[in-house]
Amino acid sequence: MSTLKAVEAAGTAPSFDVERVRADFPILGEMINGQPLVYLDNAATTQKPNAVIDAIANYYRHDNANVHRGVHTLSDRATRHFEDAREKTAGFLNSPSSRQIIWTRGTTEAVNLVAHSWGADNLKAGDRILVSWLEHHSDIVPWQLAAARVGAEVVPIPVTEEAEIDMDAFDALLDERVKLVAVNHVSNAIGTINPIENICARAHAAGALVLVDGAQAVGHWDVDVQALGCDFYCFSAHKLFAPTGMGVLWGREALLEAMTPFLGGGEMIETVSFAGTTFNGLPFKFEAGTPNIAGAVGLGAAIDYLSLIDRDAAAGHEDALLTATLEAASEIPGVRRIGAPKRSAGIFSFVMDGCHPSDVGMLLDEQGIAVRTGHHCAQPLMSRFELPGTVRASFSMYNTLDDVDRLIAGLKKAQSLFG
Ligand code: PLP
Repeated sequence: MSTLKAVEAAGTAPSFDVERVRADFPILGEMINGQPLVYLDNAATTQKPNAVIDAIANYYRHDNANVHRGVHTLSDRATRHFEDAREKTAGFLNSPSSRQIIWTRGTTEAVNLVAHSWGADNLKAGDRILVSWLEHHSDIVPWQLAAARVGAEVVPIPVTEEAEIDMDAFDALLDERVKLVAVNHVSNAIGTINPIENICARAHAAGALVLVDGAQAVGHWDVDVQALGCDFYCFSAHKLFAPTGMGVLWGREALLEAMTPFLGGGEMIETVSFAGTTFNGLPFKFEAGTPNIAGAVGLGAAIDYLSLIDRDAAAGHEDALLTATLEAASEIPGVRRIGAPKRSAGIFSFVMDGCHPSDVGMLLDEQGIAVRTGHHCAQPLMSRFELPGTVRASFSMYNTLDDVDRLIAGLKKAQSLFG
């Protein structure tokens, strides 16, 4: 019996209308190596709906100009689209103000901005920054650079065999030396959903700030930065069905106000003179140079598109896909899931006995199935599990139980060839 039929027979077929959503994503109709595409690399980047593609094309066709500078009509239109996107993003994150939405190139630049600007003013020799073993390199290396500049230390928070943050070990590390805790909302390598509210409460009680790398969360649900209680939240638009090269840093207003600018140039200044330069207010003081206007337009369109989708139902659908995958994969000899977090967001990370992850990936690609293989920019985590890498299948709302069946069939084929 196929996975789809088994789930239907058990009466657990999700009510989410996945076919309607799929129709919005033209790339899902691609043929890859003679097979219909099964796209299971959503943690790397999500696909883009027509609404986003059209918004970007329309912007370039009808409204393209530089923002904030011109008195002419096109510049005014471009500025309006650009700033509307900031308002929409503030709504998406439940930010008290759009002044707290800083455009960046992505999560990586957002973390670097905080590590550089906040770090320069607030870190000194002997201070500590805690980062979990689950972190992506982009939430480790900027802190190492910031720490090295002043003689501070980056200390890893241990994770359990299930690939969850060890909260007792975290408590034990929280002392007066800790100035900031940097954790992801969802691990890109395993899918673990971290208890951010709890982490923030504990860190704040110890006098530390919390930066959340939300790159992997926004694709699954709307985020409420006020409910989370974090101090900084970062994400990349391309993981939210929007274009690459665009991202967001959200921060508490008082913290952002107090920080010195990251990059210098046009837009971020109030007045420039050789006697002394003064800076623009929020959010512009962190946005030097001509920004990614089309990227903001695309992000705004993605947020509008998602507002028409029942995201709870979408998340339930993704959970059903993951559950079906885990059940079916557990019956394939030699396939071993890495980590077993109690709360997981659409990621199946695994190894197959006798078969290198990249060989599994290539064999799946021959069958039209896109997965990611390797260390997933999380080398410390791979070393924690004594692995060179894993195969990662990551789901989004437009994946189907047919996709799960195709993945499982592909793995069985790989197993029969290599296992
Ligand atoms: N953090 C996490 C958890 C990620 O998954 C990624 C990208 O895969 C990043 C940070 C870096 O995002 P970007 O390359 O878009 O800056």
